[in-house]
Amino acid sequence: NKFKEGLTKTRNAFVERVEELITRRKKIDEEFYEELEEILIGADVGVNTVMKLIDDLRVEVKKRKIEEASELQPVLSEKLVDLLKGNAQTELKMADEGMTVILFVGVNGVGKTTTIGKLAHKFKSEGKSVLLAAGDTFRAGAIEQLEVWGQRVGVDVIKQNSGADPAAVMFDAIHAAKQRKVDVLLCDTAGRLQNKNNLMDELNKIFRVIQREVPTAPHEVLLVLDAATGQNALSQAKLFGEKSGVTGLVLTKLDGTAKGGIVIAIRSELDLPVKLVGLGEKMDDLQEFDPEQFIHALFG
Ligand code: GDP
Repeated sequence: NKFKEGLTKTRNAFVERVEELITRRKKIDEEFYEELEEILIGADVGVNTVMKLIDDLRVEVKKRKIEEASELQPVLSEKLVDLLKGNAQTELKMADEGMTVILFVGVNGVGKTTTIGKLAHKFKSEGKSVLLAAGDTFRAGAIEQLEVWGQRVGVDVIKQNSGADPAAVMFDAIHAAKQRKVDVLLCDTAGRLQNKNNLMDELNKIFRVIQREVPTAPHEVLLVLDAATGQNALSQAKLFGEKSGVTGLVLTKLDGTAKGGIVIAIRSELDLPVKLVGLGEKMDDLQEFDPEQFIHALFG
């Protein structure tokens, strides 16, 4: 239901247009495919992905001898679910035993801090103990903002002063987490993009510190992307995804945007699973990403 509510704008922009097309054209012919292509591209599904999808549809339509447009929707849903599933695991990877460490990366403003707060809440409500690490020592206000979430959710934040070495903060946080035997450590990082190389060096250093202290960690490196930025989110995913050991994606702000199709584009152009989606600003507005649920919420 959360999905359904949150995806209203995307549904209006995308699914309702597909439905209108199906009702109006009735038959599957070249013009039908052309219009469908336009709608999908307009919904930020991305040109490459749309081409592939339409090709797949043509094959299925022939194979199943479909002529009526009204029979196409389930085939389209099926193809989209396949695309979104891929081979990768969409559930968060947790430590087999002991502490799970999850690192969050992404540029400022995408919703990193909010996602950390929401996820802390989710773990807490499952009875897990959680600690937060204030690794964004660069942006003014980032530490305080994480503390606000910590208080709201009722979990502690390990921090140093603004400007401190983020790797040192991680070192402290891991030691505190070990001492307190917490189940999950969620680590914020800086998201400035002005100096990409510096940021990558910083992330590498954080990585090394975490791995030295907990050899199996980080269990996830989640790249947070703002869905409302559409194709921009895709470029960020390409930029970060290749260099910083990203294992999964979080797509935030799906509630406010008609560009939900970007989920499909990102999934098909990068070999990275979407693991979580943000559907609002409140504590509960975070969902694990289930491709079937997602497509069902769109078309259902
Ligand atoms: P950060 O700089 O990446 O840490 O970004 P923040 O966590 O501070 O989020 C930036 C803004 O986006 C804040 O106003 C958040 O409330 C808002 N935000 C984050 N996630 C979501 C979401 O899923 N939906 C909506 N509508 N707003 C969000």
